Parts: sequence; C-alpha cells; structure tokens
Amino acid sequence: MNTEFFKIDEKHIDYSAIESCADIIKSGGLVAFPTETVYGLGADATRKDAALKIYAAKGRPSDNPLIIHIAKAEDAEGYAHTSPLYYALAKAFMPGPLTVILPKKDTIPSEVTGGLDSVAVRCPSHKVARALIAASGVPIAAPSANISGSPSPTSAAHVTNDMNGKIDAIIDGGECEIGLESTIVKLDGNKAILLRPGAITADALGCVCEEVEISSAVTHALAQNERPLSPGMKYRHYAPSSPLVLLDGSEKDITDFLLKASATENCVILCYSEEAEMLSGAKLIDVGCRSDLQTQAQRLFGALRQADTMGADIIYAHLPPLDGLGLALYNRMIRAAAHTVKKV
Ligand code: AMP
Ligand code: MG
Repeated sequence: MNTEFFKIDEKHIDYSAIESCADIIKSGGLVAFPTETVYGLGADATRKDAALKIYAAKGRPSDNPLIIHIAKAEDAEGYAHTSPLYYALAKAFMPGPLTVILPKKDTIPSEVTGGLDSVAVRCPSHKVARALIAASGVPIAAPSANISGSPSPTSAAHVTNDMNGKIDAIIDGGECEIGLESTIVKLDGNKAILLRPGAITADALGCVCEEVEISSAVTHALAQNERPLSPGMKYRHYAPSSPLVLLDGSEKDITDFLLKASATENCVILCYSEEAEMLSGAKLIDVGCRSDLQTQAQRLFGALRQADTMGADIIYAHLPPLDGLGLALYNRMIRAAAHTVKKV
C-alpha cells in the first residue's frame, strides 16, 4: 500500500488536507494523526471492517480494545451510557488527556471494544485531531500508532518507521506535547478506578471524584491467570529490543554504579541532564533534568527507540518516583523493563 503523507501545523490548519484525511476515514481507511499524548492510528469507530484493519496493521491482539475519540464530551451520548461523574470529569479535563470507560451502546461494534460491553471515550485537545474528528463526522477509534509491543510514537518519524506502507495516510503534526498516553479511568458510582496513569494525575482526579482507587496493575505485574480490568494491562508493552534495567538507590550510589557500568559494559544510559557531563564518554540519552518530569515524559518513548539504534547490550535508566506525573512514567518504564529493578 502507498502511504500518503500530510504535514499539518496545529497553529495554521490546512483544512483541505484535513478533508482529504477525513475522506479516507469515511471510506473505511486508516489515518495516523497527532494528539497531545502520542500519535493515534485512526479509523471510523462505527465500522467493524475499519476497526479490524487497525488490529491487522498494528499486529494487536483482537481482545485489546480501542479508545474512541470524539469531538465534544457530549458526543459520548451517541455511543455510551454517561453518568454525572462522566460530566464532572469532562468539565474538569476535556478536551484533554483523559479516557473514561463507560457502558457501551450498540452503535459501536464489539470488534472495537475487544468484545467488552464497555467503551473507552476520549476527547483530545490537539487541534489537528479535533479537526479530523469533526470533518470525519464519526468517532475515531485510535490506539497508539505503533507496532503492538513497541514504544508508542511521539513523532511522525516514529509512525513512519512502524506504519509506512501499511496504512493509508500519516499526518505529521510535529512532536507530541505530553509524550505518554492518556490517563484511563473506569467509573464506579462516585469512585474512579485508575487503570492507566497519565498527565491527568491521581491527585487531579481526586479534586473531582469522591474516591480514586489506583489499580494494582499500574505498578505491579499481574499474577498468572489474573484477569485485568483493562485488557491492555496484560500485554508486553513499550519494550525496546535491548533489555532495560531500572536503577533504584541514592543519587550517589546510582552515579557510582553508572560510572562503573559505562567503563565495563556495552550499555546505553538514559541519564538526567545533571549527570551528562560526569558520564561523558558513555553512550548517553539525556531525558531531562531530575525534577522535570514533564520533559522526561515527553522524551521517554523517543529515548527508548533511540536506545535501540545504539547497539548496546543493556539500557539503564532511573526508577521514577511514584507520585504526580512520576506514576505515569513509572508505569510505562516498569513495563518496558519487564519489572526489572536493580537496587544499587
Ligand atoms: P492504546 O490505544 O494503545 O492507548 O491502548 C488503549 C488502552 O485502553 C488499552 O490498554 C486497552 O486495554 C484500554 N481500553 C480500551 N477500551 C477499554 C475498555 N472498554 N475497558 C478497559 N480498558 C480499555
Ligand atoms: Mg498502545
């Protein structure tokens, strides 16, 4: 298949390019598009044939459901049974990086939801994504636009690497601002169950919901045969091809370990900016300053992809903190590392 490329700047949207891409969606094709979180691989969420193409292009297991992207929070009414808590969350966080799981209506085929009777709904804030959804006139089912299991794409180059020749079009809208996928919550009365942490933090959710429960799968590996609340939790994810090891210890002990490792092992280090000079000579990827979790989030998936091109036997990175945006970083990194943490 010949993949068409469109460059669309969020600040000066080319509506004729948006129309061309919307025509592809309307005719059941696949378009990769930028969002504020990561790039999505979009198809008409009301068409079973279109959804099946997403699973095929990504090599995604058919029981791992897709998130549907809508133009306005109220549009969820057409596809899901909403609740007062949904609207309270929508008022606080939509458009933005929050996905809410709701009971599904029949307008969404079961192929989109991996056979579940619930549907994940999100209203993105990226202007290109919003223009595409509005011009398509349908909700857009879109998982991350990477090959299943590899790090999510945060630039059009990442998408091209994984999807060129497999999908109808790629919209290049520059680098994603957040860099980690949306926060996912399931609602239970006045309680929100956090299934995937993201830029909308547990504390922020706590300002709207009476109770926020963090699913244990966010930080821990599932037990064998455990049935996850979200099917995506059980799959290997975000993984670079070289093994990733997360380092846990004091600043000084980690520095000592990295100095020694860089002299004796063929390793790549995802380092903090503050460490770059001291570790110069090693294969380094600077992920941002120690306290700048936003930059670390924005750079993480690109860093994992880059590390894979550097011919190392092992990748070392810092174990992130568990609070605020740290929890989202922790969740992605612990899975990318297959839960390998080294105490130093
Ligand atoms: P991705 O599209 O790659 O960001 O992955 C979407 C995530 O949302 C996966 O982890 C899915 O398992 C999860 N998800 C989507 N729909 C549902 C649903 N109805 N119930 C629970 N989890 C869902
Ligand atoms: Mg994904």
